[in-house]
Amino acid sequence: MNKHVTNFNEIILPLTREIDFEIAGDIEKESVFVSPQIDRIVVSEDLKSARLIAREGANLEEVADKARRFLDVMVKQVTGFEIKVFVDTKRKDTGPYQIGVNDGLVERGWMHDYGKGQVAYSGPVLKLAQLINEKAGELYKKAYNATDGHFPAMIDADTLHKCGYFDSHPNAVTFLGNVIEDFDAIEEFRRANSCSEGALLPQPEHIHIDGMCLNPAACFPCYPTLKGKTYLTGESFTWMGRVFRYESRNINGLDRLYEFNVRELVFVGTEEYVRECRAKALPIVEEMATFFDIDCQVQTATDPFFATVSAAKKFWQAAQEVKNEIKIPALGNDGSTKMLACGSINLHGNFFGKRFEFYCANGEPAQTGCVGLGIERWVLAAFTQHGFEPHRWPEAVRNRIFS
Ligand SMILES: [Zn+2]
Repeated sequence: MNKHVTNFNEIILPLTREIDFEIAGDIEKESVFVSPQIDRIVVSEDLKSARLIAREGANLEEVADKARRFLDVMVKQVTGFEIKVFVDTKRKDTGPYQIGVNDGLVERGWMHDYGKGQVAYSGPVLKLAQLINEKAGELYKKAYNATDGHFPAMIDADTLHKCGYFDSHPNAVTFLGNVIEDFDAIEEFRRANSCSEGALLPQPEHIHIDGMCLNPAACFPCYPTLKGKTYLTGESFTWMGRVFRYESRNINGLDRLYEFNVRELVFVGTEEYVRECRAKALPIVEEMATFFDIDCQVQTATDPFFATVSAAKKFWQAAQEVKNEIKIPALGNDGSTKMLACGSINLHGNFFGKRFEFYCANGEPAQTGCVGLGIERWVLAAFTQHGFEPHRWPEAVRNRIFS
């Protein structure tokens, strides 16, 4: 029980439609984005109502109205699609799943959690992260002849807008702010901080947001570099990208970070080339799972999008099978098994080709697809499935990470 519970004001809001556990989970997760005056929204066990827990001093009428509009959108989501499973690997390790991996890694001094959705790591965690990245890079090189690249961690708002990100995930964007180019404002900021105990931020009117953002999806910075290209068949690129997704209060160890790394593969070209590339991705995920000896599935995805676009996008995604998700079982903080989304295989049609102007030889916009592997989630999944004792890990991995 929360010991401050007496400070909260609670309101019960009936749900206007019948929902399932998937929607209930989405409601609770997305509820952190409803209002700063709301602590959280919890769905009742019978799935018929939601309990709004407001912060002290909240204007109850105002937050209840906002929460009602949020719930109205969320209950309209379509779920219950048949989930198709394309890959299903089983590990050889017979030991139990390890509970409390995040704490265990911190206790061993292999990870430092800054508490804001960022982690530092070293030792076996670092070596495992490097091995996951390397192994995927190697397989992509072999199967796709993919070219190595490097892309920046910042991205401008125009590019993000073109990628459709503000439309699909407006809540996850991070804008960068700078002190305005003003002698007095800069001097005021300097002076305030030169003798202060903690950091003092500039006044809001002294910060300007010029449209630079932190990149939220590894493949985005690749597309502007393709402008004007023409493809007879196609070409593939691979790199490790650093991405940032604002998660508000949903951050939780390696399970849900604000800043993380993704081994990315982008393929671009004719419809046939992109289709072949996508088909090659499944056996690669299987090979990765076998190499690290983990239970792993690739299945059709229904992504959480921001509330108001969720219903439409989810339907579109599942109906078109444009996205497969890599799901690896891990344990929640309470020890229950959960499927951790550790990456995805995506087809974009000619969406990016059209917007960023790269073409096929026949003059049509080129097609694209991508595969992203979330490095830190693979790390979490592997430690969950093999624990902290080196003998349980497959030999090739053990020799690399515990040496
Ligand atoms: Zn991508």
